[in-house]
Amino acid sequence: MTRLMVDLERIRSNIAVLQRHIAPAEFMLVVKDDAYGHGVEAVIAAAEGVRWFGSFDVATGVRVRAVTGPEARIFTWSAVSEDELVQARDARLDLGVGDFATLARVAEGSGAAPVRVHLKIDTGLHRSGVRPEEWADFVARAAAAEASGTIVVAGIWSHIAEASDADDDRARAEFDRAVDVALAAGLKPEMRHLAASAAAHARPEFRYDLVRFGAFAYGVRSAEGANVPGIEPAATLLASVTAVDDDTVEIGIGALDGLPSTLSGRVPVRTVAGARALRVGLASSIVAGWDGAAIGDEVAIFGPGGDSDSSATTLAEAIDSVGEEILVRLSPLLPREYVG
Ligand SMILES: *Cc1c(COP(=O)(O)O)cnc(C)c1O
Repeated sequence: MTRLMVDLERIRSNIAVLQRHIAPAEFMLVVKDDAYGHGVEAVIAAAEGVRWFGSFDVATGVRVRAVTGPEARIFTWSAVSEDELVQARDARLDLGVGDFATLARVAEGSGAAPVRVHLKIDTGLHRSGVRPEEWADFVARAAAAEASGTIVVAGIWSHIAEASDADDDRARAEFDRAVDVALAAGLKPEMRHLAASAAAHARPEFRYDLVRFGAFAYGVRSAEGANVPGIEPAATLLASVTAVDDDTVEIGIGALDGLPSTLSGRVPVRTVAGARALRVGLASSIVAGWDGAAIGDEVAIFGPGGDSDSSATTLAEAIDSVGEEILVRLSPLLPREYVG
């Protein structure tokens, strides 16, 4: 049967390795895009000992809250509508806020408990966040709202490109200035957080109080990047032989399941007979040159094991993509199977 097999024990051990590596900074498990395709509910239930989750959107944050119970901290950072703001309050989500209008709306308050917000400085990505020249005004407004009891400034944060060390260093200097300005305005953010997997893993000065880990927690290394010691992919993509006709072997997975058709001829798949070439079709695909295949035989499109270890990242590298992209493109209808 076609399925994504997810090794939850592997995710747990990846998390433990990363937690040790970045201590005393705290670990946030980013679970956007259905936990990078692995399935958000199962991943969170398995993530024992994780206190911080990053959900991107409010809807996912609410799903996370349903699994974790009241103690976990759940950070969301998408733009929020009026309705989402209400849902976020009810689920006691931590909100990333990177513009004046949102800050004003959150600060209007509802009489209930104050909303925990994390103020975002734009450190150079220009995707969202408050520009440095407006930052002093922004934190002053946040401090006033905090004094009135409608919000608590729980964090200062930003996001960096992780494309070059020099750019990241410039972003970090900007971030440090922003934190200083916030402290001078009387804010006492519990968490400063800047980096995701790659920069935080490689460079201690990027860890601050909290690291937002997505890719590495699932064992997805950076494209063209070295393996990270102790980190292994948790996902194996499997399909079975559905038809055998002379030397044409058909397997039950194709572009409709989210497999990029550009993979054709570029990556081998693992069969009981060894590595074989793949031609991706729409609803099914062809494995070439596989004598002796029988209906029901299993094929690993990627996954650890055998003498041709592969991963979502291996596939991605063949088509100039990244491992996350391969995983999040997999159809939600494709069954997930959990082990561990
Ligand atoms: C996706 C994302 C992360 C996690 O990034 P990885 O490189 O997968 O670790 C962290 N922070 C933000 C804001 C993100 O959007």
